[in-house]
Amino acid sequence: MLTLVINAGSSSLKYQLFDMSKQTVLAKGICERIGIPGGKNKHTVNGETYEMDYPMNTHFDAIRIVTERLTDPETGVIRSMKEISAVGHRVLHGGQKFSGSVLINDAVLDAIAECIPLGPLHNPANLIGIRACTEVMGDVPQVAVFDTAFHQTMSPKAYLYAIPYEYYEKYDIRRYGFHGTSHRYVSKRAAEILGRPLSELKMITCHLGNGSSLAAIDGGKSVDTSMGLTPLEGVPMGTRSGSIDPAIVGVLCNRESKTVNEVVDALDKQSGVLGISGVSSDFRDLDAAKEAGNERAALALQIFAYNVRKYIGSYAAAMNGVDVIVLTGGIGENNTDLRPEILGGLEFMGVKIDAEKAASREKNVDISTPDSRVRVMVVETDEELVIAMDTVEIVSKQ
Ligand code: ADP
Repeated sequence: MLTLVINAGSSSLKYQLFDMSKQTVLAKGICERIGIPGGKNKHTVNGETYEMDYPMNTHFDAIRIVTERLTDPETGVIRSMKEISAVGHRVLHGGQKFSGSVLINDAVLDAIAECIPLGPLHNPANLIGIRACTEVMGDVPQVAVFDTAFHQTMSPKAYLYAIPYEYYEKYDIRRYGFHGTSHRYVSKRAAEILGRPLSELKMITCHLGNGSSLAAIDGGKSVDTSMGLTPLEGVPMGTRSGSIDPAIVGVLCNRESKTVNEVVDALDKQSGVLGISGVSSDFRDLDAAKEAGNERAALALQIFAYNVRKYIGSYAAAMNGVDVIVLTGGIGENNTDLRPEILGGLEFMGVKIDAEKAASREKNVDISTPDSRVRVMVVETDEELVIAMDTVEIVSKQ
């Protein structure tokens, strides 16, 4: 079964075509700078990447380019888009309406549109991506996989902010959480690798990438997570501040004569480890700068690791214990230098790391010592594959 996965952002559209009979990727790529001069498509097939300049006014143009690339005699892997049995879409915000992936119909499209105030940059792009596929591919079944859905199991004590209750009632302001596809997948994979039932495990999954979030998962259900109404809350990230005293926004508006939107934009795009270090949002650059003696790069890395460790401690408290800690995402899977910083201060709760294993880049492994009370796993995430798997499961039930 050929399944196309689409991840439409505000000015980009990523795609991967899977052969789900073998769970392999046949081709993948990205259309960048949609609606901005300098549009580009990067398309990878059989290990070879083709780059082409394409002006793209809308996501409809991007889907047409995806069609062209996938069916082109040189760069293509299929003769016609009719060979694709289903399309899975990553949708950012499902609000309180979606607690799982769903087959897209008119009612689902309306519900995604109703969540636009919660995901103003992404949900409109996701909707255009879906409509563009309908235009180009006709009535192919399409599935929506929400970043927020997995965390809908949180209880009110975890998802409500201590602000006037009417704001929740009037505007749905609450914690939703993100990276749900990744937290769900790696928690399942970790249990599989350990050969233990997920239903009996208390897990803390740490998705550490450009955006980072942690989730407390008790018996396979998300009970708390660090991102909130938006992906700005939680640990400091590449360019996002993570949680700060909200009064800082008022102080900065006054002192810098900026609007609220300008300050929030700075918290989103100029903060996090980039803001602290002044060097980069990329942890590889920070490691190199630290190595070269840059103290603020070293400080940024310390602040990141310290905050991740604090969340791990608080989630162990939230669940009255933890059996497994999972590291995933670009940083969680690859940045071995941060592991001692994050996990080193958790001996008090029974975390013992095998230094040799923790220094290795191996994935889907346990890096704790045999006598550690808490298992610590590095698990490779694959959000696109999960979207494809959900899509096949839902479509084959129809
Ligand atoms: P996104 O949130 O955009 O999916 P990723 O999960 O790819 O981001 O994570 C990006 C971060 O992961 C970067 O800061 C980068 O430094 C780090 N990273 C990714 N791959 C590697 C690698 N092979 N070695 C070290 N760090 C890596």
